[in-house]
Amino acid sequence: MTQTTMRADMTREAWKAVLEKYHEDRDAPVSQDYWSEKDTWSQDKIRAVQNEKIAAVAPFLYENSDFYRRRFDKLGVAPSDVKDVDSLVANWPVVTKQEMMEDAEAHPPYGTYTTCGEKEWADRGWMLFSSSGSTGTPRVFRYTHFDRRYWEQANARALYSGGLRKGDVGLPMTGFGPHVFAWGVQYTLAKMGLPVVPGGGMDGKARASLIERFNPTTLICTPSYLLYLGRVMQDMGKDPAKTSVKWLVTGGEPFSGVAGTLERIQDLWGAKSVEFYGCTEASPHCGGYSCPEYQEGDEPFVHLMEDIQYWETVDPDGLTPVAEGERGLTVCTNLNSESSAQLRFLVGDYTRLSHEPCACGRNHVRGMGCMTGRSDDLINLRGIKFFPVQIEEAVRSYPGTGDEFQIRLTTQDDGLDVMTVVVEHPDSSKADDVAKSIRTHCEIRCAVEVVAPDTLPKTEMKAKRVFDERNK
Ligand SMILES: [Zn+2]
Repeated sequence: MTQTTMRADMTREAWKAVLEKYHEDRDAPVSQDYWSEKDTWSQDKIRAVQNEKIAAVAPFLYENSDFYRRRFDKLGVAPSDVKDVDSLVANWPVVTKQEMMEDAEAHPPYGTYTTCGEKEWADRGWMLFSSSGSTGTPRVFRYTHFDRRYWEQANARALYSGGLRKGDVGLPMTGFGPHVFAWGVQYTLAKMGLPVVPGGGMDGKARASLIERFNPTTLICTPSYLLYLGRVMQDMGKDPAKTSVKWLVTGGEPFSGVAGTLERIQDLWGAKSVEFYGCTEASPHCGGYSCPEYQEGDEPFVHLMEDIQYWETVDPDGLTPVAEGERGLTVCTNLNSESSAQLRFLVGDYTRLSHEPCACGRNHVRGMGCMTGRSDDLINLRGIKFFPVQIEEAVRSYPGTGDEFQIRLTTQDDGLDVMTVVVEHPDSSKADDVAKSIRTHCEIRCAVEVVAPDTLPKTEMKAKRVFDERNK
């Protein structure tokens, strides 16, 4: 055994020992309100655990990931220089998706940014996941059964916090491709002892029929699909709000922070949304999750799980930390995985962090206003920057608009880039009014084209609503 292999193995064992120290193998909640007592740990306790984990994970990454080793060496930073939260933030610049993509391109097909190699994959490999590829080269992540045990517990804390209890029955309605969301929920429901009615590979009518016949309480899908399926049921002469459905577990798209969409979907189904929002890179577990209080204040929020992830917000230009309470892009240090521990990864959702105590009793940081707009989705039109969700809010705020809309970006003959927003409305004379609404919401001039209701295509998974056909 070479020195390098020995160091790789020793640091891996040390990292896994710290993970095991804080692992609970629960299949039932610790109390009426919480799945785990970790939910109510004090901020001091959480910080101490974060520091202990960071001290073990930095040498582990150096010895087990070529991506991390190259970066440490290039920066002139030793693993021992990253030993707690403060030294991490001071010494380790934010890692971007671009860096990971370049690594994936240079070292296909897995890149070198994960720590699940051939040996681990053969010994205890569990499942392969992939980023959606909506922004460049897809990044692939292999996870082990060791990770799965952590995944189940973190997700159980999140779903229990959202309100799921014994007696609930899940209906996942996704493609079950290599995306973390549905699989993470699936395994967690099993761990929580909640039964599942599989709803993959069928159309809306078939799924509507499943709901009527088998009475699931919990739908698991994207927010776009909830809108679509609800309308399918209405077309069949049925009322989604009168079904057995109580919980809407959504992932894959930002949702709860989009004003108008949350209300529209909850009203349609007469059910409560349970946010489950995260990213493939910093799994295994969801990032943002709901608690019983999350819709009670002025704006909805999501909790983040700080004993297993350290969260920050940074300014979009310099990628340096912004003060708590200020809007910034999310950065996650993932401290819950053998295969994809990450230091300061730029997830890139906009939010405002708050450590103000939450009435639910969880002391973990909150993203106020939820997660609104991933930086990759930012549209730059003639120097004006905005997110598709801002257009969505403007469209939703106008009475009578349909569920779908499209943003079309084109270049005119005179070279000017313009935006047309296509909305569904029964009254085609409303185009100017809707345009005015968008101008008020977003301070952007655009043309609005009104089409008849149910004209725009409805998509099952991640909705494609932006069509950029500008001359580059
Ligand atoms: Zn709370």
